Amino acid sequence: MPKVICVGRNYAAHAAELGNKKPSEPVIFLKPETAILSKNKPFFIPDFSQSIHYECEMIVRINKLGKNIDVKFAHKYYSEISLGIDFTARDLQEKLKKEGLPWEIAKAFDNSAVVGKWVEKKEYNIGNMAFSLFINGEKKQQGTTYDMIFSIDELIAYISKFFTLKIGDIIFTGTPAGVGPVAQNDLLVGCLENQEVFNFRCK
Ligand code: MG
Repeated sequence: MPKVICVGRNYAAHAAELGNKKPSEPVIFLKPETAILSKNKPFFIPDFSQSIHYECEMIVRINKLGKNIDVKFAHKYYSEISLGIDFTARDLQEKLKKEGLPWEIAKAFDNSAVVGKWVEKKEYNIGNMAFSLFINGEKKQQGTTYDMIFSIDELIAYISKFFTLKIGDIIFTGTPAGVGPVAQNDLLVGCLENQEVFNFRCK
């Protein structure tokens, strides 16, 4: 079963909006396979949080087993990309961060990793690719991979120092600014350049 590796604070403007410093090394956390929600299935807002936030992120799927991957070969370890949502129980996360405790329950809960339809990376300019999130037709987040603090290749090299990457593993590469709460009935649509890759509702 695939694991989900997530990167925090990979866009300076988003780090700033949550009052965090720009990191000198990637901030990494994991979600278990039970977090994956795909095929545009609805997301049921859990009742343990009063503040579930969307974070729209570019995601990549690992296509080759790797450990200690050199940054110059990292591009060979993924051929498909998409967008995902890193759902976050912001109220729980703030409380845990304040207490210096691990934040898994706020980040890695069931269905917290929405995965869009995979597309071939060769059709895109990976280093400068625009993506956006619309909620109920209104654009809420807009990012470009050009603004990443750590590039995808740098992330793959860094992550693989600690975790063996296996075929099917998914990396969430961080969210740009503009995060916010979701409510029941919200319709979330993610677009890579102009191509829609997810379209699902919150329940
Ligand atoms: Mg995130």
